Amino acid sequence: MTDFSLLLRGGVVADGTGAPLVARDVAVVGGHLVVLEPGSTATADEVVDVRGLVVAPGFIDAHTHSDTSVLAAADGELDIAQAYAAVRQGVTVEVAGNCGSSAFPGSFSDLAALSRAQESVGRPNHLVSLLGHGSLRAAVVGHEARPATEQEVARMADKLDEALAAGAVGFSTGLIYTPGTYADTAEVTTLARIAAQHRKPYVTHLRDEMSGVEEALEEAVAIARDSGAALHISHHKTAGKYAWGRTETTLATLASLRDSGMDVTCDVYPYTAGSTALAAMLPPWAHDGGPARMLERLKDPAQRDLIRADISEGVPGWENTVGNGGWDRISVACARRHPQYQGRTIAEIAAARELDALDLVSELLLDEDGDVSIISHSMREDDVRRVLSAPFAMIGSDGVPKPGLPHPRWAGTFSRVLGHYSREVGLFGLTEAVRKMTGATAKRFGLVGRGVVRNGAHADLVVFDPERIADRATFEDPLVPPEGVRMVVVAGAVVVRDGEVLGARPGQVLAC
Ligand SMILES: [Zn+2]
Repeated sequence: MTDFSLLLRGGVVADGTGAPLVARDVAVVGGHLVVLEPGSTATADEVVDVRGLVVAPGFIDAHTHSDTSVLAAADGELDIAQAYAAVRQGVTVEVAGNCGSSAFPGSFSDLAALSRAQESVGRPNHLVSLLGHGSLRAAVVGHEARPATEQEVARMADKLDEALAAGAVGFSTGLIYTPGTYADTAEVTTLARIAAQHRKPYVTHLRDEMSGVEEALEEAVAIARDSGAALHISHHKTAGKYAWGRTETTLATLASLRDSGMDVTCDVYPYTAGSTALAAMLPPWAHDGGPARMLERLKDPAQRDLIRADISEGVPGWENTVGNGGWDRISVACARRHPQYQGRTIAEIAAARELDALDLVSELLLDEDGDVSIISHSMREDDVRRVLSAPFAMIGSDGVPKPGLPHPRWAGTFSRVLGHYSREVGLFGLTEAVRKMTGATAKRFGLVGRGVVRNGAHADLVVFDPERIADRATFEDPLVPPEGVRMVVVAGAVVVRDGEVLGARPGQVLAC
């Protein structure tokens, strides 16, 4: 009989709280951690020499869109390398259900149904999920551009209450996306009150992250204040040329709210480009009635002219990405039937085809049944660094696992923060970087016993080389795994060794 199933001997521990590095041996027994003084003589089924390496809690990705990626890979719709890019960089818990979009209600009736589906396929790491307001609204109200009735709001509140009781980790909105964008502040506040009753956060992709970012932040703060829910701002940024530099004011606002006692946090990814759906470049009215109606409108030249005019003039209350930048800053990430377009900007493709940009976009969306994702080069480096440095900012990849040339953040975020921004640029030290990807995130989403290395904690770990860890995923080659991640442990089982995903599938959909 050995004392432990796994013993990591000779490393230094970054425990997830931000405390200084300390030499400790770390052991696993029954899926939980035991922290030992260095040089312990305990025995284990597997002893690993981790001298020169850092042992940290497994990274918790605060923001993903990987709700069903492992299922899509099992169905052959997604490459397995896509589905596993997160765990290969050390992510042991993915927080899904972001930006108002969750797998339930919709594709799955509830969290338990999603959990059963994932269990039947097996996953290397864990997943938790928020309940998305857009998914909720689609199920109850449909896709019409109108306020919800009182009865509809009450039905949404009931379903949200059930989902939070069943273990969803919070309530998310995506107020630039339809149908979420059709909701007014009062509707969201009523629903956020349910999150507050469960002591779970209101997590929001703001109604505007560009020229109207301050007003959008005010709306989010009012929702949190009036509902009593903790506020978490998703992928905080001030994007588009009119908003560059404004993180100075948005972060000051968040800091002063925290000083006044409000529970406010945010997440951020370490890149100056974002990624979303091409269809999100169209004004909200163009989506009225749902995706099929949107495609019908794109076939009609008169409707196209109206869309073109709105993109050039703007619409009050609408975040107009193209108007804040231009088609030359937007490149195609995934268009299944047009791989030749991937990696090129809309402006470039339109010029080569001698088409107006919106005509090209319409043609492309029609050919692809509306499913095209894009990368938008919309941010400035100083803003990204400012948000990363905020003590209340945690790391979330915003990864969107899709075929084609997706944003490299899904495969590179955590190693890029540790390697580039912490070690090379020196924005913050290693233990602070680790805290932003572990302890802080676990606390935000109520993941008890995770995000820390201490006796009795869940045995989710990452072992990395602090001198070598670096992202290698690029816009041209977005899935290259990082350098320097030596081992990933989930629920006590080794799931990744030297970049290779092994056969163990201990991951679960966690109800919290
Ligand atoms: Zn978002």
